[in-house]
Amino acid sequence: MKACLLRTPTKIEANPLQFTEMEEPKPGPGELRVRVHVCGVCRTDLHVIEGELPPRKSPVIPGHQVIAVVEECGAGAKKFAKGARVGIAWLHKTDGTCEYCKRGEENLCDSPEFTGYTVNGGYAESMLAPESFVYPIPEGFADEQAAPLLCAGIIGYRCLRMAQVGAGAKLGFYGFGAAAHVAIQVARYWGADVYASTRDERHRRLAMELGAKWTGGTLEAPPEKLDTAIVFAPAGEIVPAALKALRKGGRLILGGIHMSPIPSFGYDLLYQERMIRSVANNTRQDGEEFLKLAAQIPIRTRVRAYPLSEANQALNALKNDAIPGAAVLRVHS
Ligand SMILES: [Zn+2]
Ligand SMILES: [Zn+2]
Repeated sequence: MKACLLRTPTKIEANPLQFTEMEEPKPGPGELRVRVHVCGVCRTDLHVIEGELPPRKSPVIPGHQVIAVVEECGAGAKKFAKGARVGIAWLHKTDGTCEYCKRGEENLCDSPEFTGYTVNGGYAESMLAPESFVYPIPEGFADEQAAPLLCAGIIGYRCLRMAQVGAGAKLGFYGFGAAAHVAIQVARYWGADVYASTRDERHRRLAMELGAKWTGGTLEAPPEKLDTAIVFAPAGEIVPAALKALRKGGRLILGGIHMSPIPSFGYDLLYQERMIRSVANNTRQDGEEFLKLAAQIPIRTRVRAYPLSEANQALNALKNDAIPGAAVLRVHS
């Protein structure tokens, strides 16, 4: 099979992904081998490739927003029929036995595996996943439109849940990439007003098209105090600015897996019961709930498709804010 392989974490400008021929994997007990149709490109892939996340497997095939069809079922795997269309997300597997798993917080599992990071992912013609961590994909979404739902969508949904967004809420977004362009559609559906702060003009235009009430530069103060805000951009200097934009008792949610250091700030920005919370990974329940909701709304993703062989180009474009919406890799059709 063809795959994009990362041998050593390197800046994406050096085009470190190698488009190469590899042996097709064999599914073990409870696993599926799937034929990948489309794999979404996520900022986390960039963090893996550039070594901002410590390497856990080397070499590794990145990619964790996979739309695929089931090709082969390992021993005992019977949840999906051959040919079923499925989705594979970041959470590859949990141990199911640690205190977090037992408490229903499997996103915080002590020994998790992650797709495209600790195990090979979807920048390839085929891949493996345990059937219990594989999602059915609702009809009504084309493969390319569905791929960004698997991480940008699910993580954005978890951020919105943590932010306790309801009708009439004033909700700030910092950064307006793939996750925000999906989350705004959910927030609008729930009746919230969205204030989007982002450095890129194209992203501000997309936010307006998708119904933002206001857009501005990253550190620009929104015209009203926010009930809650979500930081999607991996830039720590946003945190004090976002706290300053919150009303008393407001919540600040940090949606990224990696962030540059947060500068120190005075206690007055946090005092008056403001709170900061990070979001880590997702539970399967988040995924199932969100995919159902996405079909009901229905979410419409904006994607730019690249062939698998051009994964480096797609990631360079992502790093340069050149993609309104989400980038996806087209593997098979
Ligand atoms: Zn666990
Ligand atoms: Zn992701």
